[in-house]
Amino acid sequence: MKYLCATCNAEHDGFPSWGSDRPAAYWDVPQEKLESDVFLTSDSCVIADRFFFIRACLDLPIIGTDESYSWGVWVSLSETNFFIWQDNYEVAERSHIGPFFGWLCSSLSVYPDTLHMKTMVHFRNHGQRPLIELDDTDHPLSIHQRAGITIEELSAMMHRLEEDNRA
Ligand SMILES: [Zn+2]
Repeated sequence: MKYLCATCNAEHDGFPSWGSDRPAAYWDVPQEKLESDVFLTSDSCVIADRFFFIRACLDLPIIGTDESYSWGVWVSLSETNFFIWQDNYEVAERSHIGPFFGWLCSSLSVYPDTLHMKTMVHFRNHGQRPLIELDDTDHPLSIHQRAGITIEELSAMMHRLEEDNRA
């Protein structure tokens, strides 16, 4: 999807992907406990046998297109639901299971605080990461998921993210 960027006036081909490789809570674990207390893979994380997280996709429809922008985020699940997810990790047909409640456990720096927003987690088939449905609130991220985001807003965000990562 090529577009002329209103922020830098260059033509971009699509939007850079953004994904977090661990839940925010990981950073609260003391250094000396990381090895003993944290289990972490590309898709799941357990901290101290008490806190259960999975990686998921938070999609925002891009207004005027058939496409979405997908944030790679983490959500918490209850222990029971985490193990349901794990038991079905390699099962092709699993979208009929759930949805399950989860707290958003990733900070998206280009938004006001996104930690612990309420979500529902929808399993998807054929190895796709689950889809996150945010609770219907007036948080800008929730509004963007519900109403969509413009190409201009999204490209401005991508430039801000790039600056945040450089800082
Ligand atoms: Zn640009």
